Amino acid sequence: MNNFIKIKNTLPEGVNMIAVSKYQPNEHVMRLYESGQRVFGENKVQDLLAKKDLLPADIEWHFIGHLQTNKVKQIAPFIHLIQSVDSLKLLQEINKQGERNGRVIRCLLQFHVAEEETKFGFEYQEAVEMLASAEYAQLQNIEICGIMGMASNTERKDRIEKDFSQLQAYFKKIKTDYFAEKAYFSQLSMGMSSDYELALRYGATMIRLGSLIFSDL
Ligand SMILES: *Cc1c(COP(=O)(O)O)cnc(C)c1O
Repeated sequence: MNNFIKIKNTLPEGVNMIAVSKYQPNEHVMRLYESGQRVFGENKVQDLLAKKDLLPADIEWHFIGHLQTNKVKQIAPFIHLIQSVDSLKLLQEINKQGERNGRVIRCLLQFHVAEEETKFGFEYQEAVEMLASAEYAQLQNIEICGIMGMASNTERKDRIEKDFSQLQAYFKKIKTDYFAEKAYFSQLSMGMSSDYELALRYGATMIRLGSLIFSDL
């Protein structure tokens, strides 16, 4: 558990670590839980539901994978943060399920900055068009708390820095232009096991770590 402890103890003030527990058995989740970790992330609805019922109720679950609209209702009652909102249609469905459950569901907008075409997320222009739209203005049961993204899957440090710098610029511009008086818009989720140190240099407030912290349990 050295990696987990070391990272946890050196995180800058105001930065949170999301323990990405996908593919991990519940006993591994419990090892980190017993060391104080309460925030875990999953990228598949079925896996999340299967884990949740067998694990402590005070875990804050974050959803970090591509979310299909027809699965939102299964996680709407309890999800702490949906980090991977990538369309107005999905946001509208989250809002609808938030209303049904009598709650406001916290979300991040996911942006596509990586060189791989296969990754999900908004393009900048598409996101700001949504934020300026009448449809968006009607949504009362969602709260956009910031943005999320993934850097290119490459060894080239300059490319990874370019991606993180782009996400930081999007975050700042959207905060200024659309959320100036909204203190809740405060989260920049970026950085995984291989690149979280760079992400921190570009202002990440949430890092999402899987393999690195689970590999030495
Ligand atoms: C799997 C995953 C992570 C964690 O990846 P590691 O390289 O194992 O740290 C972070 N974010 C997302 C969206 C993921 O799917």
